[in-house]
Amino acid sequence: MIPAAFEYRRAGSVDEAIELLGSDPDAKLLAGGHSLIPLLRLRFARPSLLVDIGRLEDLRYVRDDGDRIAIGALTRYADLATDPMLAERCAPLAEAAALVGDPQVRHRGTIGGSVAHGDPASDLPTILLALDADLVARGPDGERTIPAGEFSSGMFETALGPQDVLTEIRVPPATGTYLKFVRREQDWATVGVAATRLDGRVQVGLTSMGATPLRARGVEEALADGASAAEAAERAAEGTAPPSDVSGSAEYRAHLARVLVRRALEAL
Ligand code: FAD
Repeated sequence: MIPAAFEYRRAGSVDEAIELLGSDPDAKLLAGGHSLIPLLRLRFARPSLLVDIGRLEDLRYVRDDGDRIAIGALTRYADLATDPMLAERCAPLAEAAALVGDPQVRHRGTIGGSVAHGDPASDLPTILLALDADLVARGPDGERTIPAGEFSSGMFETALGPQDVLTEIRVPPATGTYLKFVRREQDWATVGVAATRLDGRVQVGLTSMGATPLRARGVEEALADGASAAEAAERAAEGTAPPSDVSGSAEYRAHLARVLVRRALEAL
């Protein structure tokens, strides 16, 4: 379908983007376009103004800041998947980025767009949750930092306000893995599991097991109490509300979560 009519402005800076968002209550940011453009074409989204930030190259970087790795919001999945420093200092994030969609999606889609979109089937929000990432947003009242655990508030809902631009994502150095079960090659996750080791503790995140990315708290508690990977993984679906859809029933997803969590923990 052809999208409904909209105005288009290309922002030359984050400040200009914030100003343009303020000029129209129905304005929306456009980054890589790989979630928003399909929604426009289905007319599920009908913004009157698109503010294109896709060419703000100063928001495209992966930088070693010592105790944190700073990633610009416009960094593409392909940049993350091939960055040697990220592969060495935070391999699970690079690994998750390499599993997103197909090459075209990975060369256009951005980490900021993935997080801001708020889709519970997205891969990177889960790994960011398991990494205790910080998300930096700038809006008309200045800059603020939002912990990943407080960012997702519901399906397609986030802590971002209508004039906020996500500018940076900060992750700690960590080891771990991201496993994804797909029905077809390059598909969205039927279930995804992130397992990370941070300062000696293990954190586990789940994709497509509820309205937002979730932490598998039961698994983490069991591990802290000395359970084996297999024992802890049995608690993977506790507190989740997986959907039933064409990719699988809620029961099947709960089973997948237990299997993938066990595999991820065994790989740590
Ligand atoms: P856009 O589509 O440009 O924007 C998405 C939303 O985020 C919009 O509401 C926009 O206003 C907002 N936004 C964008 N950037 C910012 C910002 N900096 N600050 C505030 N708001 C912002 N994703 C997966 O995780 N796993 C998959 O396997 C997967 N497979 C895919 C397969 C296909 C065929 C397609 C088309 C997409 C797939 N995706 C998948 C989604 C893809 O990852 C998108 O790139 C991503 O969800 C959105 O990033 P974007 O840069 O394209 O954002």
